Amino acid sequence: MSFDAALLGKFINGEKRACARIISIVENRRKGFEEYLKQLQPRARGAYVIGITGPPGVGKSTLINRLAAELLKDGNSVGVVAVDPSSPFTGGAVLGDRIRMGEISMNSRFYFRSLSSRGNLGGLSEAASDVVRILDAFGKDVIIVETVGTGQNEVDVIESCDTVVVVLMPGTGDDIQAQKAGILEIGNVFAINKSDRDGAERTLRELQTMLHMNPMSEYETRIVMTKSNIGEGISDLKDAILSHRDYLNGTGKMAEKRSARNVNEMTRLIRAKIIGKVESLMDSDREYMKIEGDVRGGRLDPHSASARLLEYIDDKLFVSKSKGERNG
Ligand code: GDP
Repeated sequence: MSFDAALLGKFINGEKRACARIISIVENRRKGFEEYLKQLQPRARGAYVIGITGPPGVGKSTLINRLAAELLKDGNSVGVVAVDPSSPFTGGAVLGDRIRMGEISMNSRFYFRSLSSRGNLGGLSEAASDVVRILDAFGKDVIIVETVGTGQNEVDVIESCDTVVVVLMPGTGDDIQAQKAGILEIGNVFAINKSDRDGAERTLRELQTMLHMNPMSEYETRIVMTKSNIGEGISDLKDAILSHRDYLNGTGKMAEKRSARNVNEMTRLIRAKIIGKVESLMDSDREYMKIEGDVRGGRLDPHSASARLLEYIDDKLFVSKSKGERNG
């Protein structure tokens, strides 16, 4: 079924089930999905997007649960998008989600969605951006995006958030080295969770030293000690996060970040679409096969072949088509 105005109406009325269905339609690139995104665009109110990342087992789910509860208590409407590339389940695994988020999943101002690499055709980072847009239009004030922070896809996801929280836990120096790989640079706020465990102070000092060695921005990164299982430190964490938000708003960086995010998203989509077109041509085209055969057999060097193919692709996919349209 293509675009359904009644479904959109239910979404606008705030029905969670309609929201879930529109997310699935967009995630699976079903017919008419673009129309939903287009219709939702004017409804976007610029929700504040918090990215939370850290290795598995560090306590992210527990921490997000507590943080979301705090934000709800302040009167916010909150959405959580959990990106799990290793999960074999598709998004909308409603039962598991409810168990995970426990009591707050019953709150009418709360919405949770998990995304896995299976079940979304446009790729994980596109899916996550789309869900953030949809939840923004659904009226969420704050959207929390959770990832385990491994792989370029996830870094893409997290980098497009307004504020990035990196969650670590006490451990040996080696652990910190491993934990921080690649994510130290993108954190605006750090949480040392499980600070009830031995070594929390040492981890704090090590992290302070590392951050000092990487003076990435003029904003002073804050480190907060948390014990998510009992809810300790969560309120401080929330304050640290919101003070980064205030900094972004106060310096005009929030608007800059968002404009860049919109354009990046568009560029990514264009790139993916062009690559898709070229790849489908490569799969079946005779001329392509012929040139590839010449390269394979050593009759033609790869540089000349790629130049010839690019010309051919350009003509086949772009030039001739627009000429054709112009002519009639
Ligand atoms: P995730 O994989 O990063 O999402 O981690 P989880 O939130 O699933 O937590 C992993 C385990 O750590 C669970 O058994 C939690 O109850 C426990 N946990 C979470 N926060 C803390 C904490 O601050 N201290 C201790 N001791 N355990 C915690």
